[in-house]
Amino acid sequence: MERKLLSKKIIDVCLEMTRLGLNQGTAGNVSVRYNDGMLITPTGTPYENLTESQIVFIDKDGNYEAGKVPSSEWRFHRAVYQARPTANAVVHNHAIYSTAVSILNRPIPAIHYMVAAAGGSSIPCAPYATFGSKPLSENVFQCMKTSKAILLQHHGMIASEVTLDKALWLAQEVEVLAHLYLKTLSIQDPVPVLSEEEMTIVLEKFKTYGSSIEE
Ligand SMILES: [Zn+2]
Repeated sequence: MERKLLSKKIIDVCLEMTRLGLNQGTAGNVSVRYNDGMLITPTGTPYENLTESQIVFIDKDGNYEAGKVPSSEWRFHRAVYQARPTANAVVHNHAIYSTAVSILNRPIPAIHYMVAAAGGSSIPCAPYATFGSKPLSENVFQCMKTSKAILLQHHGMIASEVTLDKALWLAQEVEVLAHLYLKTLSIQDPVPVLSEEEMTIVLEKFKTYGSSIEE
């Protein structure tokens, strides 16, 4: 896809993220893999005011276009693409329920079969490090090797997929699961979970599940 179209798609996904209630203020950012680097949202610009020409290209070494400033979280976006060769899109936000679970520093366990959408039998939580820092991108790299989506302790969540639409879909699923987890956790801890045996069956079925979610 050409750059202008991808940039437009990034803005559309940002706006959709707000519409879905996944975003808090200007927090959150979106990128797509592009050439030897990525296209990413700029820092501190409200999504409603974003234009295609403001989307920033960063190469694999972290060099970006003069006159533009990428999201302060560009380092962990790059870490996701390094950790997951099949990922072409990354969505990050501070969605309320996902962030609440991250504050508890817990993975989302197999409370519902949809946990398998992230590729494993739980959705892990990467350890805290300062936003925008190299230690945070290292933590993200290690954690994303095991899951398409993760929580970031005291911060938010990241979802990656082969397309932007799928990444947004996964982010929304994670938020629903986090909401369910908190609801049940307030009544019973630990909450009942599906067995490893059942999750193995579900994960096998999920190998073809995504093909029904079109771009
Ligand atoms: Zn953030």
